[in-house]
Amino acid sequence: MRASHFLIATQKESPADAEIISHQLMLRTGMIRKLAAGLYTWLPLGLRCLRKVEQVVRQEMDAAGAQELLMPAIQPAELWQESGRWNDYGLELLRLQDRHLRDFCVGPTHEEVITALARREFSSYKQLPINFYQIQTKFRDEVRPRFGIMRAREFIMKDAYSFHIDQPSLQQTYIAMHQAYTNIFTRLGLEFRAVNADSGSIGGNTSQEFHVLASAGEDDIAFSDNSDYAANVELATTLAPNQHRTVPTQTLQKVHTPSHKTIDAVSQFLALPRSQCVKTILVLGVVDEHGQQPLVALLLRGDHHLNKLKAEKHPLVASPLTLAPEQRIRQEMDLEPGFIGPVGLKISILADFAVTTLADFTCGANSIDHHYIGTNWERDCSYTEAIDLRYVVNGDPSPCGQGQLVIKRGIEVGHIFQLGDKYARAMNANILNEHGQKQAMWMGCYGIGISRIVAAAIEQNHDAKGIVWPIAIAPFELILVPLNYDKSYPVKHYTDKLYDDLQAQGIDVLLDDRSVRAGVKFNDAELIGIPHRIVIGDHGIKAEVLEYHNRNTLASQDIPTAQVLDFIKKIFTKIV
Ligand code: ATP
Ligand code: MG
Repeated sequence: MRASHFLIATQKESPADAEIISHQLMLRTGMIRKLAAGLYTWLPLGLRCLRKVEQVVRQEMDAAGAQELLMPAIQPAELWQESGRWNDYGLELLRLQDRHLRDFCVGPTHEEVITALARREFSSYKQLPINFYQIQTKFRDEVRPRFGIMRAREFIMKDAYSFHIDQPSLQQTYIAMHQAYTNIFTRLGLEFRAVNADSGSIGGNTSQEFHVLASAGEDDIAFSDNSDYAANVELATTLAPNQHRTVPTQTLQKVHTPSHKTIDAVSQFLALPRSQCVKTILVLGVVDEHGQQPLVALLLRGDHHLNKLKAEKHPLVASPLTLAPEQRIRQEMDLEPGFIGPVGLKISILADFAVTTLADFTCGANSIDHHYIGTNWERDCSYTEAIDLRYVVNGDPSPCGQGQLVIKRGIEVGHIFQLGDKYARAMNANILNEHGQKQAMWMGCYGIGISRIVAAAIEQNHDAKGIVWPIAIAPFELILVPLNYDKSYPVKHYTDKLYDDLQAQGIDVLLDDRSVRAGVKFNDAELIGIPHRIVIGDHGIKAEVLEYHNRNTLASQDIPTAQVLDFIKKIFTKIV
């Protein structure tokens, strides 16, 4: 491609309304332009990146045996009424009417349409399993579109749907999709993790999200530094302690802590680390035989945070988790919140694992303005049960038994999900099994945010000068920067020949033949992030050396003109 025939719409200024680096760089490089909130035009430069992502996804989906089709973006309301989602989906669903006043929506996803197709096409188990995919524009009326195309309203998704006669068959395709996704994100040169999106307790995982690790991510991911284990921080578990409790050295002592109610205040006042202080949170229990909700105490180390999801899963605790009203604490227990602790407490006590290994700890003394120091289990108090109650923290042992947990932000770029027979049942998508009986089909769905990947890749690969593309997504693989191209015959002649040769090699090359200053060309090449650059000038041609520059390592080297083509061929055979 010649730059003179290609829109290079770079801009110097960082746009004021772009909060994150990928959004800024996509605007500054001229990859996208905003039309309205969450609606973007992909300019030629950006579209090249998008198409490259699509190509990798398409190749890996085809290789995994999925078949491409294309469904309409507009979907009739009847299908959504059948599945029950016309009411349930909420305001993200953009609804519209045609000239006959029939209801439609703009597809945010395609489970209904594909299930309607499957029930029409398939009648026997012999036609299954089958896996369809499409690469298509979706619309979701996001409550807060932001970060450019990262969370847009209109965006491009690869969505796949598989149909099966039973769960084992679904499981097989699910595993194949997991592998295909792993191949895709590896080929795209991204650092990613497959994250458990459900608790994964029975029968293995039924849903996993693929996250690209980057600080702009909206989710916290906990993963092992020494295995494949990764989970959303909400779901990452802590293990029961395997070490023995430290031996008590102190006697129980009640100390005056006037008005010091919070862990921070108490630990400062007593000059003790927060990890030696135990906080007691009173919550409502499940309704008992008298129709009452007894209070339940949750104990955590002062430096740990309660994970509500974990607490409300316990059979003694009411769900959703509800803090005990202060009035009830005052009336029933004659206590003031902030001074509660396990010593002498006559309600169920659920202690987080980490609390149970403490010795000589500090806790509320169950009397106003007082705390105990030197508290010890068994000798001074006890708990009903030790459980996992808290959010994991950096350095916790990984629940898989290998390595330690690291917590980082992640951008969700893909999601694989075993749907089971939910849609097939609701929509009567039945099939005859090998015993001639009618049954609902089993279904899996597998999404990839094609457009979001482009932004996620930039979040992970940039420096002060601009984007540093992984080669698989780069809009161009190599840029030729001739100096004095307009005026110097040797430069023009040499450059044109090299350009033709490189194209003949199948290399995606941009020839910057624009009549602009050399500095502008260099800045643009660096901002746009083209991985390889060759500079051609009169001086170099005379001396028979050209300068090669690598955008990733920032290293430059002189290459004898006679060897330039071989040098480039070598680079590309190494990486392809
Ligand atoms: P999120 O939690 O980010 O809203 P989701 O759970 O709604 O994602 P899915 O319904 O699983 O997403 O869609 C599949 C993929 O589509 C996601 O993994 C994500 O990469 C992409 N995606 C979802 N919503 C958007 C959006 N508003 N803009 C761009 N990509 C999106
Ligand atoms: Mg969403």
